[in-house]
Parts: sequence; C-alpha cells; structure tokens
Amino acid sequence: MKVYSVMNDIINIISLTLDSLDKQSKLANPTNFETEFYKQLQKTDLILEETEEIKDLITKLTIYEKSQLNNEVPTFRELSQILSQRVSNQTIREFLKDFSYFISPSIDKEIKVEIDKICIDIAEDPKKLLDDRVLREIRTLTDKRINNDKKLFKDKTSDVKKLIRFLGEYINKFIVNHTSTYDEITRLKEEINSLSLSESSLNDLEEIKSDLIKSIDKFESSVRVSQKDILNNQLECNNLYEQIEALQQNLDKAEEEKSTDFLTGVLTRRAYVVEIERLENEYRVYDSNYALVFFDIDHFKDINDTYGHDCGDSVLSTFAQILKNLTRTGDIISRYGGEEFITIVNYKNKMDIKNYLRRVKNIISNNKFVYNDIKLSVKFSAGVAFRNNYNSYEETIKKADELLYTAKAQGRNKIIVDNGDIV
Ligand code: GH3
Ligand code: MG
Ligand code: MG
Repeated sequence: MKVYSVMNDIINIISLTLDSLDKQSKLANPTNFETEFYKQLQKTDLILEETEEIKDLITKLTIYEKSQLNNEVPTFRELSQILSQRVSNQTIREFLKDFSYFISPSIDKEIKVEIDKICIDIAEDPKKLLDDRVLREIRTLTDKRINNDKKLFKDKTSDVKKLIRFLGEYINKFIVNHTSTYDEITRLKEEINSLSLSESSLNDLEEIKSDLIKSIDKFESSVRVSQKDILNNQLECNNLYEQIEALQQNLDKAEEEKSTDFLTGVLTRRAYVVEIERLENEYRVYDSNYALVFFDIDHFKDINDTYGHDCGDSVLSTFAQILKNLTRTGDIISRYGGEEFITIVNYKNKMDIKNYLRRVKNIISNNKFVYNDIKLSVKFSAGVAFRNNYNSYEETIKKADELLYTAKAQGRNKIIVDNGDIV
C-alpha cells in the first residue's frame, strides 16, 4: 500500500514536472527533467532516498562549493560538476612534497622538522589542508621562516660590513698612508682573526675572512721583499754614488791637468783659447783693455843641444815662474807652443805695460838660470799689441806675432810694441 502510494506521488510529481517544463517551453530532456523534478519534489512532503543522499553530500561540501549551488536540492549532475573541480588527494600529496621545500627556511632545522611533520599529516589525510587549525599552523611556520630569513640577512649584512670596515682600515693605514708599523698590521690581522661572525655566516663568510688574511699575508711578504730589494738597491746606489764621486774627482783633476801645462804650471794653449773667449766678452761688455805679449826664448834649441833636454825643461819652467811672479792674478799666462809664451795683461794706462815689460826683461837679463851646476843666461824676444788698436783678437795676436818675428829678425833680445816702443 505504501509502495503504491509512493508510486502515485512520484507519477504525480512527474506529471507536474512535465507541465512546468511545457509552461516554460523547455524540452523534457534528462537534464531539464531532472532539475524540474527535484523542484517539484521539494514542494511535496515526499522524502526520497536519493534526496537524503544529496543532502548528505551537500554537508560535505566546502563553503565555496556550497556557494556554487543554484538550488537548495541540487541534482547529482550539478554536484558532480562542482566536485569534479576538486583536486585529487594524489595531486595534493605530490604538491606537498614541493610545498615542504618551498616554505623551509635557509637554516633552522627545527622549523624544517615541524613543516615536514605537518606535510606528512596532510598527506595522510589531504582534507586536513582545509582544516583551520592546520592552516593556522602553516601560517605560523611561514611567519617563522620569514623572520628567520630576515635575521639571516641582517646577520650576513652586518658581517660583510665588519669585513669591509676592517679592509678599509687596513687599506687606509697600510697602503694609502703607509704609516703603520708591522706591529699595527699584526694587531689588525689579529683583529680580523677574532672578528666574531654570526653563526649563519660561518660557512661562507668565514672562508672569505680566511682568504682575506691569506691575501694580507701575501701582500705583506711581498712588501717585505720589496723593502729588502729597496735596501739592497740603496746600498748599491751608495756604492755607485761613491764611485761616481771618485770618478768626478779624477775627472776634475784630469780637467785641471788638461788646462794646466804639466811642465810649467801655466795654462795650456787649449785652456788659453777658452780664457780668450771669456776675455773677449768682457772686452766687449766692459770696454776693458789689455795688451797681448808674445814671448819666444832666443836660441832655445841651442840650450837643449848644449845642456840637454832636461836643462831645456828647467829653463822653460823657470821662465814661466818669472812670468807668474810678475803677472797679476786676473791676467793670463799661457804656454802657447814649445818655448813660446803669451801673457794677457790688463792695464789702465799704457805705461803699466811698459813697466811690466821692463821688469820681465830686467829679471831675465840680470839673472842667471840655474840648472844643477849649470848657470846660463837666457834671452828672449817679444811682440806686443794693444787690443784696442785692432778690430779683433785675431788681428791683435797676428800683430804681436809679426812684431815678435821682427824682433827676431832685428837681432833678438828685443821687445817690440805696436806703438813703436822697443824695450
Ligand atoms: P829662435 O831664436 O829663432 O826662436 O830659435 P830657437 O832655437 O829658439 O827656435 P826653434 O823653433 O828652432 O827651436 C825651438 C826648440 O824648442 C825646438 C824644440 O826641440 C824645443 N822644445 C820644444 N818644446 C820643448 C820642451 O818641452 N822641452 C825642451 N827641452 N825643448 C823643447
Ligand atoms: Mg819658437
Ligand atoms: Mg825660440
């Protein structure tokens, strides 16, 4: 009876469903029919087993899934559409493997253990992923992970800062100013050695720290080697300097010897030429005046021939000595050739020159030259020209030479001056 009554009710609902579909001009296809059937069913008191199953299924839906429902009692089709969007437990388990890796911090093993535990829990029962308590736990662990990473970053930054500050100090003291002593360098090195790095930097920055110390050691030893080289070079330089000093002294001596005649101690002809250049400049600038006296010992060859070459040398030396005695400093005496001498005598008036020539002639004529036990008279001839009577030095010396020749030609033992005076 009950079965019959239920059958009637169902037939009645089917009839109502078809009517309603007709009114809505909808086709009575399975989808439309099913939807409309459940609508009509709700209007009745009839409770079908399927309806109970659907209601039971709805309680298992998530809030979001429930919000997707169009009808209070949806059809199985509608439910299957919503449920088909669910991710499978297997997919969740696959995801969890990576998820654990994603939220694990760089360090801190403790969190890693907690995260693994939670992931295993969820893998065993993937529905827990939607559990509020589990979600809160995941959030707490994520916060912890973020804070740990922040701290790690801060520690590393501060360690890098420490190393950079140390390096700056080292560069400044040792390389730029070069004022540090080795004691200070050693202290700096000890400082970096004892630089306390955070635990998180121990692996990577500790390596940099020890590299830094190694570099400093290398740098120092290379500086020490260079300093040793510099010291050696300095010693070598000192030696060279001393050698150069000695050479310079020798050179000065050689220069002096070159400019001083070895036998007579007066200027050589070469040095005389240099002196003449200076004299000529003075002559042009200061209008100074001088007389050029060209001496030549008479029959000197005979002295050599009679008493020997050494005696001749002695005569030359004594002759030069007499000229030196009678000639003022500032005037010039030179051995111009073998037994030829030139003196350049500055004067204020021409009488000075005449007196000078007289003195030379008197000393030589009135005294005997002595060589060992040989005493001999030495005579000489000379030509004298005053510079201001000529346009150039060359003309002056030429004139003096001519007058000397004339003196020789006129019997020797004569001094002829260009103004016609004969001494
Ligand atoms: P004169 O009166 O014409 O000047 O005749 P002189 O013999 O003086 O002149 P000459 O030019 O014929 O001879 C000069 C000699 O001087 C020739 C040379 O051997 C000699 N003589 C040159 N230099 C030196 C020297 O340094 N020492 C010596 N002992 N003799 C020298
Ligand atoms: Mg001569
Ligand atoms: Mg002569």
